[in-house]
Amino acid sequence: MLSAGIKRFELDAAEIARKAQPGQFVVLRVNEEGERIPLTVADTMPDKGILVIVFQEAGKSTKLLGTLNEGDSILDLIGPLGRPSHIEKFGTVVCVGGGVGTPEILPVARALRQAGNKVISIIGFRNKDLILMADEMRAVSDELIVATDDGSNGNKGFVTDMLNQVIARGEKIAHVFAVGPVIMMKMVSKVTEPHKIPTVVSLNPIMLDATGMCGVCRVEVGGETKLACVDGPEFDGHKVDFDLLMARLRTYLPEEKQSLEMFESAHAKGGCCGGKGACR
Ligand code: NAD
Repeated sequence: MLSAGIKRFELDAAEIARKAQPGQFVVLRVNEEGERIPLTVADTMPDKGILVIVFQEAGKSTKLLGTLNEGDSILDLIGPLGRPSHIEKFGTVVCVGGGVGTPEILPVARALRQAGNKVISIIGFRNKDLILMADEMRAVSDELIVATDDGSNGNKGFVTDMLNQVIARGEKIAHVFAVGPVIMMKMVSKVTEPHKIPTVVSLNPIMLDATGMCGVCRVEVGGETKLACVDGPEFDGHKVDFDLLMARLRTYLPEEKQSLEMFESAHAKGGCCGGKGACR
């Protein structure tokens, strides 16, 4: 447990750990009836054959995943999927992580630093109890700015307030990478657009097959329909139709709520798995 409802799992997945690059994701299923859960790769330890995922216990499937303990198995895991982040020596780059998006920006920040960039990282959380991966982000950044919405730790404000301050210093920023809630990525893109700072965002639409076949993860980018699974998940933030993405993410909210309620009620009674995490 990294913070309330946020868990970090190390998966025994040697081949994926060896191949995965920053920005890519995996899809897993806990059991036969399980929903396919896309998760960005948070880290890899290729020498140990370990793939790291970090997830928020938000709905039924991620809560089910969270019931697993060390030594348990999941049914299947595919990856690495999606296009890797485009890493090169840009100059000074800003990596923005919002909440549970922070673990996903970590490998990107690390790769950018290794490519010779000056990395300024900004990570934001609602309050101090939700802060995660600050030490890890500090280790891969030339400068780390931590913000909380309520000011309970670090700087008070949104990541966009911190980004505005960094831009106002006058240092030439060559690129911005942002991962977090959609509204955050939209607002980060709005901040950088007038300054003409190229901005890459990692999109997390509803996804099913993750191989470009089903079209469920389609997003509008620059007026064109793109598939986040094979064309992304990273896109030019200045071209993404964030409002459409947010609307599509709300499509199944009633069903997701009902599914979570049924799972929690069955789980609480122990009628599903007897607390062993095998419930459906
Ligand atoms: P959150 O709501 O706690 O927000 C995290 C931070 O984002 C805030 O502290 C703030 O700094 C910034 N932020 C939020 N709203 C903002 C706004 N209107 N303007 C500017 N900045 C704003 O985030 P959370 O609950 O930890 O994140 C959950 C969301 O992140 C989920 O929707 C999840 O799907 C998404 N997520 C996305 C990815 C991805 O790949 N894009 C990865 C992981 C999680």
